[in-house]
Amino acid sequence: MSLGQNYQLAQIEKPGPVLLLGAPGVGKGTQSDILSKLWNVPKISTGEILRANVSNGTALGLQANDIMKRGGLVSDRVMTQMVARRLGDSDTSIGFILDGFPRTVRQARWLDSYLNVHRRGAILGIIVMRMDHQRIVERVRHRSVCPVCNTVYNAQLMPPKRNGRCDKDDSALEQRNDDSVEVFQTRLNVFRKETEPLIQYYRGQALSIDIDAEQQPSFVTRDIVEGLTVFRKRMLLEDALPESPS
Ligand code: AMP
Repeated sequence: MSLGQNYQLAQIEKPGPVLLLGAPGVGKGTQSDILSKLWNVPKISTGEILRANVSNGTALGLQANDIMKRGGLVSDRVMTQMVARRLGDSDTSIGFILDGFPRTVRQARWLDSYLNVHRRGAILGIIVMRMDHQRIVERVRHRSVCPVCNTVYNAQLMPPKRNGRCDKDDSALEQRNDDSVEVFQTRLNVFRKETEPLIQYYRGQALSIDIDAEQQPSFVTRDIVEGLTVFRKRMLLEDALPESPS
């Protein structure tokens, strides 16, 4: 058995790399946190890395802050450099969960060629999290986040134990400034224009799994884990079977 096939087999048990695709507010952050703990692989949230740069006042943070406050997208060049740097860290060698990247077709093409060069044989699992956009807007109104550990809460779905305080470090919870009604609407529009075409892009490569993200978070996790296992077994089988005669 080749090294590549060994790597693929290992991934049925410990699935990675995985990419969570879906509109802002659909629950990608919550699921990537859960999956990262479950599989013990790092999550790479480009939004979180950018926000850390903004709060640390780095050159990148200063550059990105205005764009983020308006709900726009940071340039593909900056984002691909950032992800390349993070994927160079050794903790990503077994697997990783991408949350919020890629967001444009150019970023997706870059990721394809990066994985081809640096992770040959890896099967990228693409999870498309779907939810009605009206419902997302409703949910985001109740969303708050811990500024210290980034844990996301939802007053209706996943409330903190103590009102307005983080369960983990007791910090005062905040609303993200790009979750305001107007900016969030812009982010949804940017998603429809720039990121939704990615669903087609990956569908063309027969790589994606659709998940109903409107369920309770634990059911969403269950569907992702089950979906990925079936998907990876199928991909391995297709790889192993001889091509059918035409
Ligand atoms: P998120 O936390 O994923 O909702 O991201 C927050 C903001 O960071 C987005 O609204 C964008 O301004 C920026 N951002 C995050 N990821 C990307 C990306 N892959 N490409 C461009 N901009 C991004």
